[in-house]
Amino acid sequence: MTANHRLICTLCREEADRTDWRCRACGGVLQIAWTGPAPAGRIAAHGRGLWRYRPLLPLMGSGEIVTLGEGGTPLVWIERWAAVHQLGRVGLKLESLNPTGSFKDRGAAVLASHARALGIERLIEDSSGNAGASIAAYAARAGLTAVIFVPASAPTAKRAQIARLGAEVVPIAGPRAAAAEAAVAAAGRGAVYYAAHNWNPYFAAGMATFAYELIEELGETGIDHLVIPTGGGSLFVGAYDGFVRWRDVTGTTVRVPRFQAVQSVGCAPLVAAFQRGLDDVPPIVRHPTVAGGIEIERPPRSRLILSILRTTGGTAVAVEDAEIIAERERLAELEGIDLEPTAAAALAGLARLARDGVVRREETVIVAATGAGWKDPGPLGSSPSRPE
Ligand SMILES: [Zn+2]
Repeated sequence: MTANHRLICTLCREEADRTDWRCRACGGVLQIAWTGPAPAGRIAAHGRGLWRYRPLLPLMGSGEIVTLGEGGTPLVWIERWAAVHQLGRVGLKLESLNPTGSFKDRGAAVLASHARALGIERLIEDSSGNAGASIAAYAARAGLTAVIFVPASAPTAKRAQIARLGAEVVPIAGPRAAAAEAAVAAAGRGAVYYAAHNWNPYFAAGMATFAYELIEELGETGIDHLVIPTGGGSLFVGAYDGFVRWRDVTGTTVRVPRFQAVQSVGCAPLVAAFQRGLDDVPPIVRHPTVAGGIEIERPPRSRLILSILRTTGGTAVAVEDAEIIAERERLAELEGIDLEPTAAAALAGLARLARDGVVRREETVIVAATGAGWKDPGPLGSSPSRPE
C-alpha cells in the first residue's frame, strides 16, 4: 500500500496505526504527518470539488474514492448584510450546499474512502446531527453500515435525515458529551471504526480542501479574516492545516488569515480559555443553546484550536441566542440565504467583531456557512427551535 503520510500524536508525537482514532499511548488527538516529496501536480487538471485536490489528501493506496460530489462550494458576497454592520467585503462560503447540507461532507468523503480502503465494514459516530448525516450518507454510498449516537435533544429534522440515509440512530439522553461516551463504548466492541469527526485525522484532512478552494478563488494573500462557528473545531483546524500545507507544497507566500472562532454564550469553553490565556479549556457550566452544532464542552482539539487562534492573531467570541436568531433572519431577508442557527452564529460573531473594531470595513472577511437552514427550520412564524 503506497501512502503519503503517517499518523502521529499531537501530544506525545508517538506514531499511530492507520486504524487508530486516538493515541494509544496517551489518548491525544492524532494528526497527519506528510511523508515523501511534495506532489508535483498539486491540483487535478480537470474536475471540480474535493477530489480535485487528491494529491494533497492522505492517499489510501489504490482504493477507489467514495464521493457524492462534495466540495467546490460557491462563495457569495453579501453586500447588503455587510453594510448593516459597517463592513465591506464579506463572503459566505456556502458549505450548506454540500450533498447532505453541511461542511461535514468534506470530512466524511475522505474518512469513508479511507475506511473502505482498510476493509472496515461498520462506522460508529456521535453527532448533534450534521456529522451523523454525513457519515450515514457516505457509509451508504460506500456499502458500509453506520451507527450514529445522537443527543436526544438534537433537532428532529437532523435525526430523521440520518435515519433516512440508512444508519441506525441511537438517541442518548443528557448532554452532548453523553453521546460521545456511548459511541466510544460501542466502538470498543468488535471490528468497528470510530468515525468521530471531533477526533478522526482523516476527517480533518478533508477540511483542508475548504482552504484550497478559497486560495484558488481569492489568491494566496486575499483573505484578512476567516470566521468559523467552532465547537469541536474540525473545520477550524482542518482549514488552518490547509493553508499551511498549500504553502509547504507550493513554496509560495500564502498569508494565513486571522482565524476567528465563534461560540455560543451557552457553551463557550474556547472563549473562556482564550480570554484567560490558557493552553486548554477550563471546566464550564453548559446551558442549552440554539447552536447545538457547536455545543462541545471539552473539544478534543482544544489545544490546537487555541494555538491557531494565537498564531494567526485571531480571537474567540461568544454570542447570545437572540443575536444568532436575529442574524439568521437578517441574512434570509436581505440576501435570500437561510442557514441553520449554528451557521448563523458565525454571522452574529462577525457582527460583534465589527462592533468591537476587530474587523474593519476595508478588510476581506470569509464566513463559513456551515449548515443549511432546512436542517433546523424552527417552528413556522417564530424563532428557531431550541434543541432542549
Ligand atoms: Zn500520544
